Amino acid sequence: MLRIAVQKSGRLSEDSLKLLKECGIGVPNGNNQLKIKAENFDAEILFLRDDDIPEYVQDGVADIGFVGENVVLEKNKATEIVERLGYGKCRLSIALPKTRKKIELKELNGMKIATSYPFILNRWLKQNKIKAETHVISGSVEIAPRIGLADAICDLVSSGSTLFSNELYEYETLLRSEAVLISGKQLSPQRKELLDKLLFRIRSVKKAKYNKYVLLNAPNKSIEQICAYLPGINSPTIVPLAKKGWSSVHSVISESDFWNVIENLKAAGAEGILIIPIEKMIE
Ligand code: ATP
Ligand code: MG
Repeated sequence: MLRIAVQKSGRLSEDSLKLLKECGIGVPNGNNQLKIKAENFDAEILFLRDDDIPEYVQDGVADIGFVGENVVLEKNKATEIVERLGYGKCRLSIALPKTRKKIELKELNGMKIATSYPFILNRWLKQNKIKAETHVISGSVEIAPRIGLADAICDLVSSGSTLFSNELYEYETLLRSEAVLISGKQLSPQRKELLDKLLFRIRSVKKAKYNKYVLLNAPNKSIEQICAYLPGINSPTIVPLAKKGWSSVHSVISESDFWNVIENLKAAGAEGILIIPIEKMIE
């Protein structure tokens, strides 16, 4: 059985369970229990504080874990990142009070910086030859400057609204993070096989998210030009329409090319373009 660690209740819980579900792995009754047998997959879900996940995976209490890369780097345990998951995106940044604009990096010397990420912060300070004092607090870091506890903070930011409401601004980004799947280094062959099975499913789900199914009608004379814009998995599927001289073209395009491709298709005479989300993509 594969033991999968998931954050008990926090920002990554819902998306992690949703991803498992999209991989066909059901988790009954949400996360009221600390340990639940998964449905449809030989796995057990352990609900933990995110800070504890790297250590539990290192020690083999859990085999794999869904956790923020920021936590993985901060805890610095013997685990490996086996997949980046694309959700839980944030940055670890140094923020300063708005009253201290336009300062140079060297002016951080002598400052007191409040953070829950002392390992990453100290490594960055050392790399940049800055001698600052780190003050470790486990939560509500952003109020530290307002209550005179620190001159600056080093904390997670996504939209920046928390910084804004505490009269701080983002000064320097130390790390860009997203949720990742980590694995212990000594999985048994059976568990490794289960992990490979899960990774195959996760990759199929991810691929589907980054791609869209395109359906359009095109005059036969433009088909060649239109096909050139639509690589598809092998090549587009072309089906003749009842309307003479017209065909229906089906293909797959990636999210990143999306708008450029659509503009080209329209310019080439495509009509009735439908974009349909893909549920899974197995190649
Ligand atoms: P726990 O109770 O499990 O220790 P926590 O309070 O430490 O939870 P959360 O706030 O739930 O942690 O955040 C979990 C993870 O979500 C972070 O480690 C980070 O990877 C990610 N995250 C994404 N955006 C943000 C953000 N704006 N602020 C904080 N974390 C974020
Ligand atoms: Mg935590």
